[in-house]
Amino acid sequence: MIERCAGVDGKNYPARPLRRDDLLHLVGRVHFLSHSDGLSVRQIVRHLEEEYGVRRSVGSVSAYLNAYRCIKCSGGQNGTPEHPEGPT
Ligand SMILES: [Zn+2]
Repeated sequence: MIERCAGVDGKNYPARPLRRDDLLHLVGRVHFLSHSDGLSVRQIVRHLEEEYGVRRSVGSVSAYLNAYRCIKCSGGQNGTPEHPEGPT
C-alpha cells in the first residue's frame, strides 16, 4: 500500500510523506487493531512498523485514535468500513 525505499541502515522507510488516502487507510488500520484485536497503542506502533514499515510514534497513534472516529467509535456494532463484520 505504501511505497518504501531502503534507508542507509538497510531498513525500509516510506518513500514519501503519506498522502491523504494513505493516512485514512492507516487510521482505519489503527482503529481496527485497537477495537477488534484489542492491541494497546504501543502494540499498534510495533505492528505498524513490522507489518507495513510505517514508523509512527505512540503520540501519533494516540492522535489517530482520538482525532478520528470510525463506526465503532461512533457506537456502531460493526467494524471499520475497511473491515465490515457481517452478522454471523
Ligand atoms: Zn474507532
